[in-house]
Amino acid sequence: MRIVSIESFLLPPRWLLVKISTDEGIEGWGEPVVEGRAETVRAAVGELADYLIGQDPLRITDHWQVLSKGGFYRGGAVLASAVAGLDQALWDIAGKHRGAPVHELLGGAVRDRVRTYAHAGGESAEESADNAKRLVEAGYGAVKLGPLGATGFLDTPRHLDLEVGRVAAVREAIGDTHDLALDLHGRYSLPHARRLLREVEPLRPLFVEEPVLPEYTGLIGEAVRATTVPIATGERLYSRTDFLPALTAGIAVAQPDLSHAGGITECLRIAALAETFDVALAPHCPLGPVALAACLQLALAIPNFLIQEQVLGLHAPGSAPGLEYLVDTSPFALRDGCVERLTGPGLGITIDEAAVRRCSAGGHRFRSPVLRHPDGSFAEW
Ligand SMILES: [Mg+2]
Repeated sequence: MRIVSIESFLLPPRWLLVKISTDEGIEGWGEPVVEGRAETVRAAVGELADYLIGQDPLRITDHWQVLSKGGFYRGGAVLASAVAGLDQALWDIAGKHRGAPVHELLGGAVRDRVRTYAHAGGESAEESADNAKRLVEAGYGAVKLGPLGATGFLDTPRHLDLEVGRVAAVREAIGDTHDLALDLHGRYSLPHARRLLREVEPLRPLFVEEPVLPEYTGLIGEAVRATTVPIATGERLYSRTDFLPALTAGIAVAQPDLSHAGGITECLRIAALAETFDVALAPHCPLGPVALAACLQLALAIPNFLIQEQVLGLHAPGSAPGLEYLVDTSPFALRDGCVERLTGPGLGITIDEAAVRRCSAGGHRFRSPVLRHPDGSFAEW
């Protein structure tokens, strides 16, 4: 079998899909994207495609080596994401070629269903609590909150009260039989994060995510030691090597993104490395259906899986963009907040190519928001 063509599709709201076609008629889909930099990744995919055309798609690890390292310069969000999407598509082809879902090629299922969570959102305690209540009523066993607006280096006690109050309101709304996670999105300084962690500790969050920016991963141990709250990070780490300092610092939850950290191939290895530190995986996935399918395949195959992020509104199909790119949404059907083991070959989903071609005509120009502090200076999003 040989690869004959590689096409990419810029899809609303902020995604990029890639399709690898073979001379045997088997096609694989991947999702290579950096949110806000989709066209940059698309250019990288085009450069990497030059090598892949004519190759045997089943030599996945060898292709990963060449794509990741063969350009001499390596690493980083753009290249690792381009490789990630191509890698997902190669696994999709391998599974379809062998008539098996990808997790069977990774050693077989270690679980029957995959626990997922949804974002509660909300700008106030009341709004977040209402949203969270609706989500648990829809079956989710866990919800996540993002941080409130721009956050000062050492923001005010009032700011901390608003943030902690929102977590408390959600905890009260969902009770102690459901989980609640808090994502600080790298907006906090380490000293401000330490103050917050102490205050949310009695609310027993599942984890607090990105208490420091990825460039301060070397300091994340200070956040770990400040609290009993499990610390999570990893959506902006792109390899085993990037994860190693976080793991040695004592994080509890590693969050590689299967569309950013070298795909299924590298994330499987990140999972194995994390296991040696007694760290669980909660893969990052605010992305589309192909990225989610890749995450689910990995979750089915690794022992140290915790929970899966998703933003596709699985509890109410059509409530969020993404599922319209599938011929059949039933592989993602949610039961008690979980997706049942995917049984279809490859990634286990079927892309609606006509819908993809139609929707890619307009592309998108998604850019991450730029936040400002009250004094006009740049603030982390
Ligand atoms: Mg996050």
